[in-house]
Amino acid sequence: MSTCQRIMCSVGSCIYNTNKDNLCTLDAIQVSASAKSDSGAPYDETLCASYKNHDKKK
Ligand code: SF4
Repeated sequence: MSTCQRIMCSVGSCIYNTNKDNLCTLDAIQVSASAKSDSGAPYDETLCASYKNHDKKK
């Protein structure tokens, strides 16, 4: 994989997000479908599984 790839992301509630730069600070992320997904819609089929909430820190 290219070492210059960046992950652009605007999910401000994630602990890995730099809000001002619209960037993910991780080197790689896992993208997965949601557990109940079969719609074919992007918002059901392509969730960021690396997400961690600022407050909940699950
Ligand atoms: S882990 Fe996922 S949701 Fe969080 S900043 Fe990176 S790409 Fe965005």
